[in-house]
Amino acid sequence: MITDTDQSQGHTGVCFDTDLIVRYGGRGPRYTSYPTALQFSDSVTEDDYKRHAIASNDSDVPLSLYVHIPFCHSLCYYCGCNKIVTHNQARVDRYLEMLYREIDMQAALFDRSRKIEQLHFGGGTPTYLDRDQLADLMDHLRNAFNFDDSENREFSIEVDPRTVDADRIRHLAELGFNRLSLGIQDFDPGVQEAVNRAQTPDEVRTLVKSAVDSGFGSISFDLIYGLPHQTVESFNTTLDLVITMKPDRLAVYNYAHLPQRFKGQRMINADDIPLPETKLELLRHTIDKLCDAGYVYIGMDHFALPGDELVEARGNGTLQRNFQGYSTHRHCDLVSLGVSGISHIGNLFAQNAITTMEYEALIESGEMPIRKGIEVDDDDLLRADVIQALMCYDSLSFDDFGAGHGIDFRRYFATEIKRLAPLAEDELVEVSDSGVAITQKGRLLLRSIAMVFDRYIDQAENDNRFSKAI
Ligand code: SF4
Repeated sequence: MITDTDQSQGHTGVCFDTDLIVRYGGRGPRYTSYPTALQFSDSVTEDDYKRHAIASNDSDVPLSLYVHIPFCHSLCYYCGCNKIVTHNQARVDRYLEMLYREIDMQAALFDRSRKIEQLHFGGGTPTYLDRDQLADLMDHLRNAFNFDDSENREFSIEVDPRTVDADRIRHLAELGFNRLSLGIQDFDPGVQEAVNRAQTPDEVRTLVKSAVDSGFGSISFDLIYGLPHQTVESFNTTLDLVITMKPDRLAVYNYAHLPQRFKGQRMINADDIPLPETKLELLRHTIDKLCDAGYVYIGMDHFALPGDELVEARGNGTLQRNFQGYSTHRHCDLVSLGVSGISHIGNLFAQNAITTMEYEALIESGEMPIRKGIEVDDDDLLRADVIQALMCYDSLSFDDFGAGHGIDFRRYFATEIKRLAPLAEDELVEVSDSGVAITQKGRLLLRSIAMVFDRYIDQAENDNRFSKAI
């Protein structure tokens, strides 16, 4: 058991308290939405979606598009994404054909005046598609929707470095993308071999250079800690290499070994996975090192350089949690296209079919591929805003929030304010007459704090669990 506590890291904006992290950490939803997808049910239908989409045109807010490309060339053993490893081109062609039909069905619902300010291609591996396929898909989207081609746009694509070269990066810029997210995970050859994902630092450096030369405004890297054979020393080398490449943003995810749930993870030898205390050291070292290098800790797993839009959005009130983690453009309605995509239009969350077989069959029969979702009520909206405030800005004023939402916060959330008491005793939050502020210790445990305001969580179990530990 790790015993050192209260290791302050003043320059990072967080205080790494190992004891608290062991007690509270690693549990609860990530709150990329509230209510979370666990609350979705099949009571939400295509008609509901159409009704909300058409009604949302009155608001005339811009749109954010998400496009899911589920295919990958090979399996990374740690992966928990919704993906299909295949070399069957006919399968890809059929998916694209159905995706085009879905794009047309969706576009027919939204007024042409509504600009696409934000676009994100995720997967799977979007760059599984070759140049022509991707160009055709972008053409189809451009014809169907009203793309914002100004500097204001944020068009991003997840790139598997093993699938592209410098020339393809230039091509992505020509297609209109101006944000790039590269899956790095770890540069150590032994770790890469253990997870079946090999890519050299030089290859990545070449892509980054091409992206900078092509005018990409933001480059993001994904890393994972807790992978087999990782040590603090080996991950330190990866971080050193990453820092020399100066990505604008970094997401550093915790590997969760769930071989019963994710078949590919059975290829990982559990004995090779770092012990829990090593994982905590990896996290502590990562935060320290990245903040030393000038990165700002945004929250959860995200870091960004001071000039990045995430840092600016945190300062000007436009930061949000969404399905990409932390993001900007909070005012947009989100339209998701492709298998398993989750749309968020006004007060409705709607998720597409999870399997390509069902997704394609629904579209083939002329239906939209929506399978489940939730229509949120006023209470959900209030709680969603409380959770956003705490996770994005670390504080909440009772009076300001109450005035903005037409409630007496202290009365409405009296039970939740009481439930914060043990967290305040543990110094995760400070609760005063005027509001809640998350402390430096609490910043690493945002999920546990947000859970207090989640009405779908079994709060009795939640209280019991914490009180046992106190
Ligand atoms: S990590 Fe990415 S590239 Fe690897 S299998 Fe998963 S989705 Fe595919």
